[in-house]
Amino acid sequence: MSDRPSDTLNDPSRAASGDAASHSHPLSAQVSSQGSSQAATHVSPDQASAALESHLAPYAAHASQSRGRRYPETPPSARTEFQRDRDRIVHSTAFRRLEYKTQVFVNHEGDLFRTRLTHSLEVAQIARSVARNLRVNEDLVEAISLAHDLGHTPFGHAGQDALNDCMREHGGFEHNLQSLAVVDDLEEHYGAFDGLNLCFETREGILKHCSRDNARRLGALGERFLDGRQPSIEAQIANVADEIAYNNHDVDDGLRSGLITVEQLADVELWRTHHASARSDFPLIDGRRLIHETVRRIINALVVDLIDTTTQNLARYAPGSLDEVRSAPPIVAHSESIAAQAAALKRFLFKNLYRHYKVMRMANKARRVVTGLFDAFTDDPRLLPPPYQTADAAQQPRLIAHYIAGMTDRYALKEYQRLFVIADN
Ligand code: MG
Repeated sequence: MSDRPSDTLNDPSRAASGDAASHSHPLSAQVSSQGSSQAATHVSPDQASAALESHLAPYAAHASQSRGRRYPETPPSARTEFQRDRDRIVHSTAFRRLEYKTQVFVNHEGDLFRTRLTHSLEVAQIARSVARNLRVNEDLVEAISLAHDLGHTPFGHAGQDALNDCMREHGGFEHNLQSLAVVDDLEEHYGAFDGLNLCFETREGILKHCSRDNARRLGALGERFLDGRQPSIEAQIANVADEIAYNNHDVDDGLRSGLITVEQLADVELWRTHHASARSDFPLIDGRRLIHETVRRIINALVVDLIDTTTQNLARYAPGSLDEVRSAPPIVAHSESIAAQAAALKRFLFKNLYRHYKVMRMANKARRVVTGLFDAFTDDPRLLPPPYQTADAAQQPRLIAHYIAGMTDRYALKEYQRLFVIADN
């Protein structure tokens, strides 16, 4: 943490940003002076960017036509604006924390279970495959996919629900909004601005859901939630890729943990179909290899269906630009039959894995840790590291939420011990 005055972390006037150039940052003079030293290239950055994106369809998000960054910057010379966003995300501190944050199983429960980091990489892989087929912007889908869970609390959904309960009187806690807060404000990497100063289109993709109240506060970024418009095709792809990734890796992790069984999954059509085809193609394989062969077939079936159905929707709505994508109905979608099958798999996981008593015990422990930390810090903010203390009592709960949300699973457990366990720690 820096020694920056902590009340800048949650300045609502900053959160209400929209398009580029709508803000002047105290350090923005440094941006223009950096810019002048980079200007002497043979090809203008705009031309280079356009060349890197010449294969894209007209309905794709083109970096050269981005609605820009909150703090204007000189365009990059050897990559597009969306590549720069992706690169900033990979180099961020919040991205490294994902390695030690729960997806379903707490990080220390086993080395082979997915974490938020491997989940995000799987989302990016699926989203890029789809994007390339549809001739939309792979760099943008990758940036959105890698950033979409940056605001997740420790302990997965149990942690998010607990923090949301703690924050009920103070505006709630929502991990999509927190991901946006991470990239807009909380990262401390650049001299000229707080956050990563990402493009509008990347931030729009990160903000998957939003209440009407929050949408009003977010200005241009929140408008689509108020007027019923869609985000880019790239954002829509990242959203569906997220579901494809977690449904499948939760089946794999669930089987690995022994909390669900292959026999139970026989009730799920998607599993039954591809398990049978894997067995018939490879009669001699079993165990983990048969599970992997089945899961890869399910992922492939979902991805192929998504590309086919979306291609039909593109032909039907014929958007000629990103703006026409925004006004059209949702374009990225599964066929009705595959959507129903994917929903059945999701219901199966909910009932048999996410509500399994062993997962519920972990969730209960997570709730106690998050709630215990929140209550202790609220009762006495002097227990907080100084950057999270503020003299503004109204802002204090949000800073506590930022502190807790940034914790990895094991950091949260350690912090809980430091506060509540009388022992040598
Ligand atoms: Mg996700």
